Amino acid sequence: MAEDTPNPILEEEEDWYRDHLATVDEHGKRVWIYPKKPKGKFTNYRTIVALFLLVVLFGMPWVKVHGNPLFMFNILERKFILFGSYFPPQDFHLFVLAMIIMVIFIALFTVIYGRLFCGWVCPQTIFMESVYRKIEYWIEGDANAQRRLNNAPWNGEKLLKKVSKQIIFFAIAVLVANTFLSYIIGVDQVINIIKDPISEHFQGFIAMIAFSFAFYGVFSFLREQVCTTICPYGRLQGVLLDKNSVVITYDYLRGEPRGKIHKAVKGKEEEAAKMNALLGDCIDCKLCVQVCPTGIDIRNGTQLECVNCTACIDACDEVMTKVNRPTGLIRYDSEEGVRTGVKKIMNPRSIAYTSVLGVLVLLEIILFATRTQVEGLLLRTPGMLYQKTDDGYISNLYNYQFVNKTSDTLALDMELIDLEGRIKWVGQSPIAIPNDVTNGAVFIELPKSELVAGKNRIKLRIRSGDHVVDQVKTSFMAP
Ligand code: SF4
Ligand code: SF4
Repeated sequence: MAEDTPNPILEEEEDWYRDHLATVDEHGKRVWIYPKKPKGKFTNYRTIVALFLLVVLFGMPWVKVHGNPLFMFNILERKFILFGSYFPPQDFHLFVLAMIIMVIFIALFTVIYGRLFCGWVCPQTIFMESVYRKIEYWIEGDANAQRRLNNAPWNGEKLLKKVSKQIIFFAIAVLVANTFLSYIIGVDQVINIIKDPISEHFQGFIAMIAFSFAFYGVFSFLREQVCTTICPYGRLQGVLLDKNSVVITYDYLRGEPRGKIHKAVKGKEEEAAKMNALLGDCIDCKLCVQVCPTGIDIRNGTQLECVNCTACIDACDEVMTKVNRPTGLIRYDSEEGVRTGVKKIMNPRSIAYTSVLGVLVLLEIILFATRTQVEGLLLRTPGMLYQKTDDGYISNLYNYQFVNKTSDTLALDMELIDLEGRIKWVGQSPIAIPNDVTNGAVFIELPKSELVAGKNRIKLRIRSGDHVVDQVKTSFMAP
């Protein structure tokens, strides 16, 4: 294939699609998309993946580890649980690092594999294409039938189809909203909101209703607009993708010049064959455009609106099979791959991202591995200096805070490191509540002979039975 062969589509100067959205008309009004029902190998694979991910999404809130949810992201109460382990705000740095890793991973993944995430994993695409759209096809039929129904006057059939569709859509939105809430406040709390009188969980109830209507609005009305105009990841594609990124692409070298197949009329077979020989493989049937849920023509090249849903691959492969031409006119490939015929995955940018990602992942693993189960904080009580005891000891009063990151109740104790002294708890010795913070006060008494005047640095071990669970440093005032 010629190295410098230009893309005739991309080379055109005044292509309307460069500054127009396929879903907005010249008056700025929304153009409703009626994508034709996709079918084929990739659609089948995506359905299987979608089913698996839906089971995972709806099933995970019910999974408990040591009585904790598998995942919980309670932003309001600053309570986070990952794989059943409690992460208090004190572990926030781990979250920040995990978020940075995620952003770099997404960038790296996109540089190499384009929008694979959008087409196969993104909840928006999965719910839209594998749940809501399928229900719509089932109730209203394929694209043309939907168009006809929408343009038809209101009658019994239209009313029945429209109302039943919207009821099912809303019911699924409620299910999605409750599942979403389960990841925030836990499934037990969601069940309580459903079971108990509204007055007992008024805020939770309002959140449930708000989320339900939000999801209903997204999947019933907003639809592809989420991907084409709202989603920040979609908007970032322009800076993340390069000519080596693997995207769903049209092989313009093979396909152009496009044109209908000239049918051989009796006696003019040679003429038809000559005309066909001048054409590329694209027969300009526009099926790839008709199945596109964002309304674009992939033959215009990679566009920000393309969510890599694979529907156009299946449509085109079916056409190519029918006209006895090789499949793959639209396929997963890079712009460079189409131009040169060589598939190259790594480039300097992806190598740089991979290196940074590797270092950060290593750092996160180390921080996770060295994360203590209990985190202690010991601070001298404000306004208190020291007291002298009758037997020659100096006493300081401290406020303690123990964060118990485990699911077990822990009886805690402390011992001095490298110093002989006494520890006297104010009240009972601390019992650390699971996944919570325990506060209290404690006196530490040290022999005056071991101390210097003013501030002394001391270290203490925090124990739970025979286990040392943390170590703390603090200051000790002496006369
Ligand atoms: S261009 Fe193809 S892959 Fe992209 S959104 Fe449209 S149908 Fe899906
Ligand atoms: S489906 Fe294939 S043959 Fe038909 S217009 Fe699209 S690219 Fe051309």
